[in-house]
Amino acid sequence: MRNKEIIEAFPSLNGISVSWETDYKSSPPWDIHAPQPEIVRLAENNEIKGARVLDVGCGLGDNAIFLAKKGFLVTGVDISRLAVEKGRKRAAKQGVTVDFRVGDVLKLDDYFEKESFDAVVDSGLFHSLDDEKRLPFAEQIWRVLVNGGKYFVLCFSEEPGSVAPRGVSKEEIQGTFSKMFRVDYIWDAFVAAKFGTGGARGYIASMTKIVHDKGVRAGA
Ligand code: SAH
Repeated sequence: MRNKEIIEAFPSLNGISVSWETDYKSSPPWDIHAPQPEIVRLAENNEIKGARVLDVGCGLGDNAIFLAKKGFLVTGVDISRLAVEKGRKRAAKQGVTVDFRVGDVLKLDDYFEKESFDAVVDSGLFHSLDDEKRLPFAEQIWRVLVNGGKYFVLCFSEEPGSVAPRGVSKEEIQGTFSKMFRVDYIWDAFVAAKFGTGGARGYIASMTKIVHDKGVRAGA
């Protein structure tokens, strides 16, 4: 398929609210059957500390499965039942255990206790959230992380005319997370996908949960 056809077939790439369930009836453009290179880099550089990792918007689970193979205890949450079912099959085929859950990342507090995870990875979820959902999402991530825990986000970057038009800017990442997290870095990255030159330009950001005096969240 050409880029235009891909975007028409998968409107979620355009930031249009769609049913993710529909996208997963076929293999969506982000289904590369492999972990994202940036997630591999994070693991290989030992940037992911601790044991318990939450993959938000885990989709078909290839990042979660990769991290489980690396020895992490991985939970994956996705709003698409179909994606989760397919992810479970992929994990089983590879003999890997991932705790896959169908759920909404804006309701993590319904599913998990506070400080349940040492790290949260996000490959391609944040950039798909509507603007008004960004802060509530950041609060949910903050809550499930241990103090000092890391949130890693891989997202498309803003590029006029890009095949992935709904990218985010560094300022948007800072603006969303900097009150609750220390932003360790926001680096240029490549998001692998089945379009463009094998993907599109993006950012990988690392941030650390900070707790202010008396455990009160900054800005709360
Ligand atoms: N992380 C996967 C999928 C990225 S696509 C990968 O790297 O391949 C974004 C994913 O976020 C989709 O699977 C979509 O179903 C999921 N998603 C979108 N909004 C969500 C929400 N509110 N709660 C949970 N998952 C969500």
